[in-house]
Amino acid sequence: MPVDQPDNKSMTRARIRSNQMELSLHPGRCEGYGLCEEAAPRIYHLPDEDDVEILQPQVPSELEREASAGARVCPVAAILVSR
Ligand code: SF4
Repeated sequence: MPVDQPDNKSMTRARIRSNQMELSLHPGRCEGYGLCEEAAPRIYHLPDEDDVEILQPQVPSELEREASAGARVCPVAAILVSR
């Protein structure tokens, strides 16, 4: 019985999809400085007495620059960026 092999187009699409920027937090590292929220308010939100909240952990491509800028300004490197 022949085994279905993914064609080149669907493999390329899967690769593009898996290249999406993802954000997460180092547990316990956020100290609530709020610089990330200032730099990228559509991505990060700092509730009054809590760790930062990542509003869009799977970052849409049009917000990647903003998300990166917010991660870069964190003084304790609490935000992890991966693909
Ligand atoms: S993630 Fe970093 S910049 Fe954002 S609130 Fe926490 S400590 Fe501050």
